[in-house]
Amino acid sequence: ASFWPLASTSTKEKLLGGLLVPGFNERSCLSRYHSAFYRKNMARSPSPHLIKRLREHEALQHRCGPGTEAYRAAAARLSSGHPNATDGDDAAPGACKYLVLVPYRGLGNNILAMASAFLYAVLTDRALLLDRTTSLGDIFCEPFPGASWLLPQHFPIRNLQNLTGEVPESYRHLVQSDDAAASVSRRRYVFVDLDHSCTYHDKLFFCDDERRFLHRAPWLLMRTDGYFVPALFLNPAYQEELDRLFPRKDAVFYLLAHYLFHPTNKVWGLITRFHDSYLKNSDERLGIQIRVFDGDTPFQHILDQILACTSQEHLLPDVVTKEPPHPSTTGAQSKAVLMTGLSSWYYENIRWKYWQSATATGEAVSVYQPSHEEHQLSGYTTHDMKALAEMYLLGMTDKIVTSGWSTFGYVGHGLGGLTPWIMFRPENHTTPNPPCQRAKSMEPCMHGPPFYDCRTKHGADTGKLVPHVQHCEDMSWGLKLV
Ligand code: GDP
Repeated sequence: ASFWPLASTSTKEKLLGGLLVPGFNERSCLSRYHSAFYRKNMARSPSPHLIKRLREHEALQHRCGPGTEAYRAAAARLSSGHPNATDGDDAAPGACKYLVLVPYRGLGNNILAMASAFLYAVLTDRALLLDRTTSLGDIFCEPFPGASWLLPQHFPIRNLQNLTGEVPESYRHLVQSDDAAASVSRRRYVFVDLDHSCTYHDKLFFCDDERRFLHRAPWLLMRTDGYFVPALFLNPAYQEELDRLFPRKDAVFYLLAHYLFHPTNKVWGLITRFHDSYLKNSDERLGIQIRVFDGDTPFQHILDQILACTSQEHLLPDVVTKEPPHPSTTGAQSKAVLMTGLSSWYYENIRWKYWQSATATGEAVSVYQPSHEEHQLSGYTTHDMKALAEMYLLGMTDKIVTSGWSTFGYVGHGLGGLTPWIMFRPENHTTPNPPCQRAKSMEPCMHGPPFYDCRTKHGADTGKLVPHVQHCEDMSWGLKLV
């Protein structure tokens, strides 16, 4: 098809409209400058202010990152238990502050957490570092020029994965102390727990104005498994800056993801070989992402749901049960269906449907599924490589159907700049009616939002405070940007 440019993509396109800087070694991470070859036009362009802030943030990561004098000094203070180089009202000008992210659960969760933490780091001038107990360092290239975002091996705080909101350093405890600012200054670090199980007090973090007291903490450690950007848009402290960064609110993840996430060469090989072999030459591509939360065995009601959704929304043609109405012609339209899921059963059924019978439209429908891992094995590099390749491939389709509640699906459509048809999560093993709905935007859903209005300091329906933060289609209490 004509819209996959083969060569001579201009430098501006290659750098995704200024999102990326030139100068990285191309061969060591092919996806960084080659992804534009595999994409139609950018769904959204970065604002000049976003581009400016990214360049400033790169300078900050370079000045503060691992291997620098600033990092050595900050890490030494952390081990010595004397954190207070930043005591007093303001941190020393130019002093480095850090946000250490402890991602966990599946890869989709990790990716949403990384994008959210990165935006928070930009808003609060902190260098972002990732705990490396996951496979993230093997599947993603470094996003910042000349500075690693991986936490060095000898980080003074051990077992980051075991931190919870119960530790004395947690935001939960600090926010409840009489003099929070003084408490922050006494702690070696502040731990922000944004797990599903976090409390009302943990979630007050979403109303925190960093300048008030968190800026005194050179080290902020954070545990989260999801997308918390919608909550940042509800915090008055960040409103003006976020408006300038993102004049359009519906593509925050899209832009952050294109800046941050560049698959390593091995993963890029999985992506491009699959794309070139199975997707490239079709007239149209449909992605179908199947995620089942009730166990790994196949379910008839979920197959029924996929078929009902794709039929009602005219995403796949109907088949004829008798003789084909017209003999197949060589000029027929071709549609490639990319299916992803842990099980191959749904794929086998849909492929058989279009092999067994002709389509009413005469279209040729080919159905592919790159892998069927059967069970989730997050943290194992080969398993995670396949998961990333499949999310990325989903983003290379033209239209996409996803499973509600799935962060895997959010990343697939978010990366692609695609507004999905979301299949509702089934209850009582029954196909929901309607089976799916077109989403309001391409943004991921925040699953554990605050129910508190930062301005009035009262409980509130946070889906009703500003027009661009609304409840999600697939989770009634969730929040998403539109
Ligand atoms: P979520 O649980 O749907 O929100 O998505 P996550 O990505 O956070 O966790 C699910 C994990 O299960 C993925 O990261 C993969 O490890 C695995 N998984 C689930 N669905 C698929 C799939 O379609 N393909 C592959 N390769 N892995 C999957």
